[in-house]
Amino acid sequence: MSIFNEMAKYGYEQLVFANDEASGLHAIIAIHDTTLGPALGGCRMWPYESEEDAIIDALRLARGMTYKTAAAGLDLGGGKAVIIGDPRKDKTETLLRAFGRFVETLKGRYITAEDVGICAEDVEIIRMETQHVVGLPRGPGAGGDPSPVTAYGVICGMRACLERVYGDGSLKGRSVAVQGVGNVGYCIVKHLSEGGAKVYVTDVFKEKIDRVVEDFGVLPVLPEEIYDIDCDVFCPCALGGVINAETVTRLKCKIVAGSANNQLADECHGDALHDLGILYAPDYIINAGGAINVSEEICGYDREKAMGKAAWIYHRIKAVMDIAEEEGIPTYQAASLLAEERIAKIGRIRRIFVP
Ligand code: NAD
Repeated sequence: MSIFNEMAKYGYEQLVFANDEASGLHAIIAIHDTTLGPALGGCRMWPYESEEDAIIDALRLARGMTYKTAAAGLDLGGGKAVIIGDPRKDKTETLLRAFGRFVETLKGRYITAEDVGICAEDVEIIRMETQHVVGLPRGPGAGGDPSPVTAYGVICGMRACLERVYGDGSLKGRSVAVQGVGNVGYCIVKHLSEGGAKVYVTDVFKEKIDRVVEDFGVLPVLPEEIYDIDCDVFCPCALGGVINAETVTRLKCKIVAGSANNQLADECHGDALHDLGILYAPDYIINAGGAINVSEEICGYDREKAMGKAAWIYHRIKAVMDIAEEEGIPTYQAASLLAEERIAKIGRIRRIFVP
């Protein structure tokens, strides 16, 4: 792989490497685009098979964050960090603090947060070395668990979809199949039940299903059955890649709207949903509540403000659907246009009014 060719292809600004002998830290920070503001993106710790795999992952995820923050209306860019290592064996206080010092060297151009392999408690350790970290679980200025904000944003986006398909955004009497009832899925089921929807749920852990069935009286199904449920909305809240060649033709819903990241195994499955007449709420637009929540920490956290911003996901999903209809394109492509347009427009005024 030619790194400079790869960076030029998608307009990456910076790729930085850190090596710390004392702690064993091997980390990479990719900054994709800072037109709108500092690059926000979590830190992933993973035992990558090769350095190339780690670089590719950092680049890919950083670019995804540019689109997510731009489309969410945040004045933030996109970045990502990866630490090469096994979080169960290699994660130590010294390593996390060395990573924090690495983040600090970028003087705020990149703001880190938790991701796979890095939890909220690790964020607290990283915070001992740098202020450029968000996603703190507790204490002054901490955003706490983002799941309720993410779930609320998903419900707002789902209402926009229901309105477009059925002419009415109400949840009452609608049927929704929720895949995965963990942190976000649980809160979504709560909103749906309170709104009067008929809710089907599944999870790979029986105790998680039992909990929502007991709390909200919803209908449990087996993990494999969730794709075949005849319903208004399929709501993926578990893993990525669930809309794939095997599942897409099984769906009997009119809308796909859920919190999971990277729901489309490939872009062609976004085309397939479009061709089948299933409205897809692009994942990074509808699940932006998490990013909105952590971004609120930058200027002093306020949950009410975070919820207020998450409510705007309703309008952003509507804007995506409008672009898709006007241009005659699938919604996943419309989402990219929305993000790119915002970066271009704000970038232009920033070039004119240089302080
Ligand atoms: P979580 O781990 O708490 O919940 C995921 C649930 O899915 C778990 O209960 C798990 O058992 C279940 N699951 C896993 N594989 C499954 C399968 N094949 N079938 C059915 N259930 C399965 O995670 P979460 O924080 O609730 O996040 C859910 C999704 O939303 C993830 O994709 C995450 O990346 C995304 N997301 C979360 C947030 C947030 O604020 N937590 C923000 C943005 C995006």
